[in-house]
Amino acid sequence: MRKDFLVFGNPLIEQPEIDEVCECLRSGWIGTAGRVTKFEEAFRRYKNTRHALALNSCTAALHLSMLAAGIKPGDEVIVPTMTFAATANSVVHAGARPVFVDCERLTMNMDPEDLARKITPRTRAIIPVHFAGRPCNMDAIMETARRHDLTVIEDCAHAIEAEYHGKQCGTFGSLGCFSFYVTKNIVTGEGGMVITDNEEYANTIKVLGLHGMDKDAWKRFGDEGHRHYEIVSCGFKYNMTDLQAALGIHQLPRIERYWERRRLIWQQYTKALSGLPLELPEPAEEGTRHAYHLYTLLIDIEQAKITRDEFLARMIGQNIGIGVHYIALHLHSFYRSAFGYKRGDFPNAEWISERTVSIPFSPKLADEDIQDVIEAVKNALYP
Ligand SMILES: *Cc1c(COP(=O)(O)O)cnc(C)c1O
Repeated sequence: MRKDFLVFGNPLIEQPEIDEVCECLRSGWIGTAGRVTKFEEAFRRYKNTRHALALNSCTAALHLSMLAAGIKPGDEVIVPTMTFAATANSVVHAGARPVFVDCERLTMNMDPEDLARKITPRTRAIIPVHFAGRPCNMDAIMETARRHDLTVIEDCAHAIEAEYHGKQCGTFGSLGCFSFYVTKNIVTGEGGMVITDNEEYANTIKVLGLHGMDKDAWKRFGDEGHRHYEIVSCGFKYNMTDLQAALGIHQLPRIERYWERRRLIWQQYTKALSGLPLELPEPAEEGTRHAYHLYTLLIDIEQAKITRDEFLARMIGQNIGIGVHYIALHLHSFYRSAFGYKRGDFPNAEWISERTVSIPFSPKLADEDIQDVIEAVKNALYP
């Protein structure tokens, strides 16, 4: 058994970002300044959109996207139940009601047919989540959105590199939200980004992201002479700092190298783990680009005769970190008590919630680490 614990989602940090952070510290410009602008510009070019606005998290990006899109109390926003809490919490923060949709069993993405069933006269927006990096069925989702005149806000926290039928994820909807949290495909420690082609949305997000100050206020500490700021709305403290952007400006150019490494790990896992009492992730769909964010196993609990939680304990007992993505949101106490959801509402998501385990899938994994994970999975199933 390996001696040291293999951390799940361990980020790969290299020398240039370490140097950049030190330089940033020495410069004294550790707040929101030139490095943030540089990172936004690089991301804007990467996604080929009009605007890219850096924030301190994807959660902030989702919240401000809700507000930019005019979501307000009484509105309904459709969200998959198979996602991280931040997706639905952002809807609640805007005062609206998250209306959950089941996922497809195989892709784990929002089921377009269930989506169509959940639309009411109060529905205003849809938040597709490209789960594990696999693009959602955007043809069907955009068609439904057009038919009912709904705003689409893509949660691309798993899907920076994803493409669907030749178009980049995050550019289908009016707004696309990204995360650079420690476990994500590129990292800034904490951090997020919103992209949009809509000038008005971009201005709203810029203003609301920094206290509600008029949009040029962040320049006020520069050397261009003092200017007073004006508070034009009641905003939030959601700005990214240069210390975070110092990481991002060096991580982004390596995004393809990291993706290629994870693709290789995916192939190794798929080859080594087939034939076990597990369901492995579906291969990437024809005509799409998978962002390879998570490698999720579904434990065949009937055949393996263990529960998922027993499997988790056996993995941790072998010094292998794991993740659970996710226990469906409608099973959590807040969503049950606030919105009346209950077990039985979303069968596919519940089926996955009981069986899913994510194994280490970072580009930092050495070849020996990959072998350790494979061995540990086999030992956990056949002790
Ligand atoms: C990580 C994650 C978020 C939140 O990202 P933060 O940057 O941590 O706020 C939102 N949605 C999904 C699907 C995520 O996995």
